[in-house]
Amino acid sequence: MFDPFHEVVTNVSKTIMQFEAQLRRPVIGVMPAYFPMELIYAAGGYPVQLWGNNLTLEKSDAYLQSYCCSISRSVLELELREISKMVKAYAFTSLCDTLINLRELYRRLFSKPTLQLSIPITQTEEARQAYIKNVLKSVTTGLEEITGQQITQASLIEAATLYGHTRSLQRKLYNIRRQKPGIMKNHDFYTVLKAGFFLPAGAYNQLLETLLHNLEALSQPQDSRPKVLISGMVFDPIDTYKIFDELKFDIVDDDLANGWRTVSKENLQIENLVEGITQYLFNPAPCCCIYNPENDRHTYLLNRVKQSGADGVLFWYIKFCEPDAFDRPQLMNRLKAEGIPAAFIDMELSMSNFEALKTRINAFCEILEG
Ligand code: SF4
Repeated sequence: MFDPFHEVVTNVSKTIMQFEAQLRRPVIGVMPAYFPMELIYAAGGYPVQLWGNNLTLEKSDAYLQSYCCSISRSVLELELREISKMVKAYAFTSLCDTLINLRELYRRLFSKPTLQLSIPITQTEEARQAYIKNVLKSVTTGLEEITGQQITQASLIEAATLYGHTRSLQRKLYNIRRQKPGIMKNHDFYTVLKAGFFLPAGAYNQLLETLLHNLEALSQPQDSRPKVLISGMVFDPIDTYKIFDELKFDIVDDDLANGWRTVSKENLQIENLVEGITQYLFNPAPCCCIYNPENDRHTYLLNRVKQSGADGVLFWYIKFCEPDAFDRPQLMNRLKAEGIPAAFIDMELSMSNFEALKTRINAFCEILEG
């Protein structure tokens, strides 16, 4: 049932090159996070999402210090080692200082075009929209120059429908996991999400529809196992989920930038694109990187724990993401004050030995069982 997704995740370059040839669309590498794929697709591009990888860092250390997050370092490694030759241009958001500076590095080191969707740090809807209005113009013009195609109302409608459908199918997958914990392995679940970073939306949607159809026919396993919610920026390294499976420990929900925070976004509204993009960026899930004081992360996280039936929260910390680290102590304190067990685990994307991680996950599992 999950083989096609595993096939994609173990053969990322081959998959992208195969679909690039088939679609005849230029591949645009999308950096973390929240850049609407719809804009790239509407301009005739083939967006692939780069949320980091497990390459050993051989070249990027010459440009990024070891205290930069392993997501930015591993993504830079791809381009420095010329592994991402098929990527014709890069799309950034201004999610954090690291990404803003990473874009500047790309502009200086490489000849590929880059563009940036800057996310405003303002509180009112009016101020946000005024800012996005200016930014959006340069983003859409930049995309059109890269692909040589105009973004039209028709291409926007097609893109919004396609990617909106992807996220609605992914939400169904999340719902099945919440309602029937243990119905699929944790490793399989995150492999399904990860395959969507590289497949074109049309092909991915077809695979998802078949998977959902097959999953709906299955009944929930009878054994009761500890249930956890994970919170952080990205769910990688993907192989770590085999540890949860081995320990018989069910992840029932997440609060991850490349997980539910993105999957929960409704269809992009294109009637007023400025308003639509603003809504897309700021809603519905809060994020440590998005300034939105009216959408409190503490309350949000508590609600998600209650709704998912999780027994505890594991903070999934990729070294050294500053925005994620800043929020964590307060979030952990609040959860503990509410009687919800919480712990954090830190890791590098390039790690290959998971023994220490396994010990720590097991220790948290025992707390939940106790
Ligand atoms: S992991 Fe954190 S520091 Fe790294 S790119 Fe993402 S938000 Fe920025």
